[in-house]
Amino acid sequence: LSFTQIENRSINIKRKEVNLEEFVTGYMETFRIKYPDFNIHYQIDNVYNFYTDPILLGSIFQNLIENAYKYSHPQHKELFIRVIHEKRDIVFTFIDKGIGIPKSEIKNIFKKFYRIENKYNQNGSVGLGLAFCKELANFMNGDITVKSELNQGSEFTVTLPYEI
Ligand code: ATP
Ligand code: MG
Repeated sequence: LSFTQIENRSINIKRKEVNLEEFVTGYMETFRIKYPDFNIHYQIDNVYNFYTDPILLGSIFQNLIENAYKYSHPQHKELFIRVIHEKRDIVFTFIDKGIGIPKSEIKNIFKKFYRIENKYNQNGSVGLGLAFCKELANFMNGDITVKSELNQGSEFTVTLPYEI
């Protein structure tokens, strides 16, 4: 999956019935194996299956979960994933207790190659993850937003239309 593919609309959305519980716990398991000190919890409200493209949605999950780990203090790697059916949307919220994002930077973080210099992203940080998530969410007729409090944590919300 690449930016070019999305921007050229050269990938097809391949929707299928996705069991949200299996989907979310699958990613949780993967990350628990990758990062044994990662404390991930989840809650799914009033929805069981979501007709969506699991590869595209999975790519958003991958990036947001990776960021939550990367931008949290070594002794406090914690993430809460919430899924809820709200009106005509499925809303995924990723809440971490990490380093947070300065208010002045919020408008920038979804830009390509934009990264905030900090001790947590010294190696291998490109600044593409969130820009890619935004493109993917928009491509699926949804969006992604963020609320954050410096030194408290961040909350990323992905909203996708619930089409049956
Ligand atoms: P890449 O994802 O390409 O490896 P990256 O993580 O630096 O690099 P993005 O995922 O696009 O890039 O994030 C942009 C910037 O936003 C990061 O450099 C980081 O400073 C900040 N950021 C992203 N997620 C969080 C988070 N959960 N908590 C605090 N800061 C975050
Ligand atoms: Mg990232």
